[in-house]
Amino acid sequence: KSFADLGVTEALCEACAALGYKTPTAIQTESIPIALDGKDIIGLAETGSGKTAAFALPILQALLDNPQPLFGLVLAPTRELAYQISQQFEALGSLISVKCAVIVGGMDMVPQAIALAKKPHIVVATPGRLMDHLENTKGFSLRQLKYLVMDEADRLLDLDFGPILDKILQVLPRERRTMLFSATMSTKLDNLTRAALQNPVRVSI
Ligand code: AMP
Repeated sequence: KSFADLGVTEALCEACAALGYKTPTAIQTESIPIALDGKDIIGLAETGSGKTAAFALPILQALLDNPQPLFGLVLAPTRELAYQISQQFEALGSLISVKCAVIVGGMDMVPQAIALAKKPHIVVATPGRLMDHLENTKGFSLRQLKYLVMDEADRLLDLDFGPILDKILQVLPRERRTMLFSATMSTKLDNLTRAALQNPVRVSI
């Protein structure tokens, strides 16, 4: 199967080709049609499986239909992962001029607040710093959000981000799509998926 066979639109297929993605990976083949169908997803997949594009492509495609600032939020456990995710969004979204902001700890708040004020389409963040901006950056809210991704959710919980994730979930609109990716499942993760996802489809590779 090709990306086009999965329902990916032409501009995004071209972006995949430009990045050298010839055929979809297993997690992409499983997840993309479900996500394009507007369903929540629990994806069991490891780093290296191509999971970033598995969630980025459906979000970018939905963004094309409804171009809107602060459309998608991706929560990641580490700074490094947040930057990698943002790079993939920008590479896949280069033909459609997607703007991303990376909001992570250990960096100055002010440039991040300025980046958020520019209304990026996609925010990739670590949870603690995102909460800090939600509480302290005037004019920043995620009330318009359409897509939430929690990436490496098992690591998010291992790093004790659970309580902050609960707080973030409280200020996000309920009318949204949510995708959660994790290398492992656990009882703690079941609680998070119940709190964050609606009728999720499970995908594992
Ligand atoms: P990820 O698991 O999302 O971190 O992706 C692992 C690596 O695979 C990244 O360097 C991606 O750029 C690359 N990649 C993602 N999807 C594909 C694909 N369909 N074909 C070839 N490489 C891919």
